[in-house]
Amino acid sequence: MNLSEKCKQHVDSCRFCWMCHHICPIGNATGHERSTPRARALGISLVNREAIELEEIMDNVYECATCGACVNVCVTGWDPVMFAKETRLKAALEGKLPTYINTLVDNCLDSGNAYGVTEMNGDLQAAIAAHSAATDTLLFLGADARYMVPEQAIKAIKVLEKAGVQFTVLADEPASGSQLDFLIGAAQEVKDQMTAAAAVMNGYKTVVVYDPIDAKTIKRTYKEYGVDVNAKAVTFTSFVAELVKNGTLKTAQSGLTVVYHDPFALARDLEETEEAREIIKATATLHEMLLNRKETVWAGDLLMAQYLPNVIPMVAKRRIFNAQSIGENTIVTASVSEYASLKAAAPDDIAILSIEDLLLK
Ligand code: SF4
Ligand code: SF4
Repeated sequence: MNLSEKCKQHVDSCRFCWMCHHICPIGNATGHERSTPRARALGISLVNREAIELEEIMDNVYECATCGACVNVCVTGWDPVMFAKETRLKAALEGKLPTYINTLVDNCLDSGNAYGVTEMNGDLQAAIAAHSAATDTLLFLGADARYMVPEQAIKAIKVLEKAGVQFTVLADEPASGSQLDFLIGAAQEVKDQMTAAAAVMNGYKTVVVYDPIDAKTIKRTYKEYGVDVNAKAVTFTSFVAELVKNGTLKTAQSGLTVVYHDPFALARDLEETEEAREIIKATATLHEMLLNRKETVWAGDLLMAQYLPNVIPMVAKRRIFNAQSIGENTIVTASVSEYASLKAAAPDDIAILSIEDLLLK
């Protein structure tokens, strides 16, 4: 396996120092030592030294959610996300991806989403059709909202309608490239998908990005891969927080007391933690759950649930426990995929809400 020198350095320099051992959501859910960042480095190192075959570690390489919790606590600056993603790219180039990953990659290339869904929910189609006219502002919904959690996509549209914003939603929205990037990293197919999406976005002044993973991809990864977006890309939460702040979006107190689960892509990758809190404070009493802001713990998602269906609910349950353990029973999040993951795992006495739920109450 021909990894870059930088990647080899990170793989070989990462020490079994245990500083990130306790923070990995997958390692904590499985309880397996092999799921931890350092164990992944060890496996990649063994492949580099030709002691084992690349195929032997690929299941393990795809256990990483690329959530960056380990990177956040590694004081020596080593980056398990980088070496997991580069190993995925090399495996893709060498034709050594697991079959279940090849299926997801093929779906991304054929239908623009990893789930291979080709038809949107009828109610969402109607909501989108009401915003087909050209405006300066594009609401970019993303694959998870469009194909897996359409009720949340409809709520996002309703929030902007409530504020009187003139905006466009595309019936044929292009893939952002975030799912394909998660699966195979900086491959040419990924850059091609991103370039095609950027060309569409460049027809607008502002692109409001609903899904935090898409926002991270468009605002950060596009630059890293040399893909230019001239439109101003903003997160849905920062756009809506401004509408609340300037009085365009009227809010009312719901009487609820809630905790906020920070999506890692907002809190760590985009360093956006306060905008969602400002929205929540306009609608509810906000308490803080354990491990908040940059220390947040990923709560599972829809993409990894495709191939780790038993592990992802355990990841979500552990995150719910962080709220339960301080006596809280209502969790609000701003990630459509983590919302779906938490909701599927929540017991009856725990409510999972989105920012949109609070605003539309
Ligand atoms: S990534 Fe950093 S914190 Fe984690 S085991 Fe390696 S050196 Fe330690
Ligand atoms: S990025 Fe997240 S899932 Fe991957 S090894 Fe680090 S903490 Fe674990």
